[in-house]
Amino acid sequence: MYILGLTGGIGSGKSTIGKWFLEKGIPVYDSDKEAKLLMNENPSLKSQLIDLFGPETYLNNEYNRKFVAEQVFENKEKLAALNAIVHPAVFHHFQEWVSLQNSEFVVKEAAILFESGSYKDCDFILTVAADESIRIQRVMERDQVTQEQVQARIANQWTDEQRIEKSDFVLYNNASLEDLKNQFHKTYKKLLKRIQRS
Ligand code: ATP
Repeated sequence: MYILGLTGGIGSGKSTIGKWFLEKGIPVYDSDKEAKLLMNENPSLKSQLIDLFGPETYLNNEYNRKFVAEQVFENKEKLAALNAIVHPAVFHHFQEWVSLQNSEFVVKEAAILFESGSYKDCDFILTVAADESIRIQRVMERDQVTQEQVQARIANQWTDEQRIEKSDFVLYNNASLEDLKNQFHKTYKKLLKRIQRS
């Protein structure tokens, strides 16, 4: 089964495109969502995180994202340790999920597809690119957060240029949703051709 990695910076439009793949009957694995679920529910992952950050990692049995974010902020070693726990757990969960799918290809959606190294497991990569100012505006509206909060997350991610360089397909999301959908349909056809040829 072929794996298409779907990536892009925060607010670029990954989930929007993920929905369009689902509408075409293509299974989509939302890595960010699944990672959050695993951190809340997987007993082995939970105990490893508590060993690393202490009991405050969970507040009323709920993963305390704010606390962990504070611990890893400007602490590269702790961030690397966190990633070394979470990424393999998501990887295994994804492998299990893939084995249950019945489709010519599946989509693995991840904001940090490159940063986490999981792009190496993908056969093709589709990046959604959009200007930073537009992404900041969209996320501020969607999540009711400040410009600084969005910029802090952008600072931890690769740039569009870095992602595009390593991608097979790129969609540019600086205009309307209709424009993005047109690009999506064209790319979808190209992708099917690539899959048939390989
Ligand atoms: P994140 O990395 O934060 O999960 P994402 O890459 O999945 O974000 P989306 O959630 O798809 O991005 O899009 C961000 C927000 O911008 C959403 O509220 C979405 O509806 C909106 N949006 C996306 N593309 C457009 C567009 N072309 N025009 C207007 N709004 C858009």
